[in-house]
Amino acid sequence: MAVSIYQLGYKKLSRIIFEWQAADRASLMALFILMEAYLHWLWCLYVWIRRDKLSIYVDMDMLYPMWLGVHIMGLFAWWMVEHLSRIKDDDARLNRWQIVLISVYSVYIAFVILVMGQSGLVSGVSLVGGAMLGMMLIRRRYIWRAFLGLILLVLVVISLPYWGIDFPSLQHIHESTIPLDIYSYLIASGLSTIEMSAIENAMATSTLSNEALGIDGLNEVRQSSALFWHSTHIYLAVPKAIFIVYVFRALLLILDASKAETLKHANQDELTQLTNRRYGLTQMQDTLAALDHKQNYSVILMDLDWFKSINDSYGHQVGDQVLQEVAGVLKATLKDTDNVSRYGGEEFLIVLPSTAHHEVLTIAEQLRSNIAEHMIQVSDGFSFQVTASFGVYTLTCEELARIKQDHMTTEAETVVPVLTKLQKLKRRKNPQGQVAGNLREQSQSELPSDICQRLISIADKALYEAKDRGRNKVVSANEMRAAKNRSESSSSASGTEPL
Ligand code: GH3
Ligand code: MG
Ligand code: MG
Repeated sequence: MAVSIYQLGYKKLSRIIFEWQAADRASLMALFILMEAYLHWLWCLYVWIRRDKLSIYVDMDMLYPMWLGVHIMGLFAWWMVEHLSRIKDDDARLNRWQIVLISVYSVYIAFVILVMGQSGLVSGVSLVGGAMLGMMLIRRRYIWRAFLGLILLVLVVISLPYWGIDFPSLQHIHESTIPLDIYSYLIASGLSTIEMSAIENAMATSTLSNEALGIDGLNEVRQSSALFWHSTHIYLAVPKAIFIVYVFRALLLILDASKAETLKHANQDELTQLTNRRYGLTQMQDTLAALDHKQNYSVILMDLDWFKSINDSYGHQVGDQVLQEVAGVLKATLKDTDNVSRYGGEEFLIVLPSTAHHEVLTIAEQLRSNIAEHMIQVSDGFSFQVTASFGVYTLTCEELARIKQDHMTTEAETVVPVLTKLQKLKRRKNPQGQVAGNLREQSQSELPSDICQRLISIADKALYEAKDRGRNKVVSANEMRAAKNRSESSSSASGTEPL
């Protein structure tokens, strides 16, 4: 299906360009060229309708071949819109036609700039904007060559007058017989070439019709000519500039969407749609760093029981289905703000910031019973249930404060001597000690870098204990540690086990 004008809505366009093949993108480029040719066609029509008045500024003999050229370009672009989208599967033909499209357009636009425009605004928008747009839609190699070719073409045409060759222009240039004093006056008033030509034309016309043209008349012609040509340049450049910005916005939407998609894939586990281990740990690190000094922090590590035998008995596919359904149960039971990730094969990590120990035990118990009650429906009508074991650990705010304190002390002992040396060295060169200051900032993270692993490994010990106690259990690491400390303190008078 060829590209149509109805597909040019922002979001629609960006979604479509994202999914489109090279042929469709080239077809879109042809549609843009068609639209540009249509703007030129309308300009020719306007000049033709108002030819009585505008023939002073515009060479009507030149308008007709120009209009014909615009017609041909429009028809060619129209045909290309259809043709390019039809040759999707033939790469060689598609490439050939892309070269043809770009070559024809380059010559056409160079012709338009020189005949109609001759303005920095039109040339700039056409050269830079067109090339950028082309790079998005057509093979970049072709656009780069076409761009260089276009610059070369413009340079050649600009240098033509030096070789004594006049390039045809829509400006109505006449060899008029302007008296020397008036000519000096015109030059002295700093007129542009366009204004100058218009005045020359007007004078020539008036000379031919034997009318007198005074200085006031000259000024009037000068102003209306400038107005006409400046409006023409704005008419040519502004819609094109707006359209280029419009398409770029659509393309940026594509980039945003693909960035979001890439991030999603980088952070998500494909099978369960939960976050993956790497992202789970990052979230854990972030939530720990943001933790208030009065809040407790809880971690649950969960492992499915006898999962290997599910795989062995019913096959890997059913095993995958179990993982997906268990992930669904976890999501349905937990709040959106709780972080749940697939930590390993059939192991899940749940992080509950600002959750006290008795609360997390209740949550883990709820998860355990929901999983145990959930029926895994296998396609042939057969269903079964699975169970999971849970290790739970809560880092109390007091313990967190103690870890931070210990960490800062260790940091100060190891980092400060190094910094002092660096500071001394730096001060010799730079009295502000900027580098040492930056280094201190980097090294003074409040928590040890392995804090997440430490918490998970404590929860893992409780998970082992749950397996040991017969599975389908929730075991608290805090209670295990407290019991161990009690038994140790009854045999010797040692303190709390350090984290
Ligand atoms: P336990 O109760 O002691 O945890 O026993 P288990 O059988 O669950 O433990 P084990 O670690 O021996 O088995 C885990 C199995 O999980 C082994 C592996 O084949 C399977 N597994 C890991 N990832 C996937 C997966 O993505 N899909 C499927 N179907 N199986 C997986
Ligand atoms: Mg297991
Ligand atoms: Mg396991």
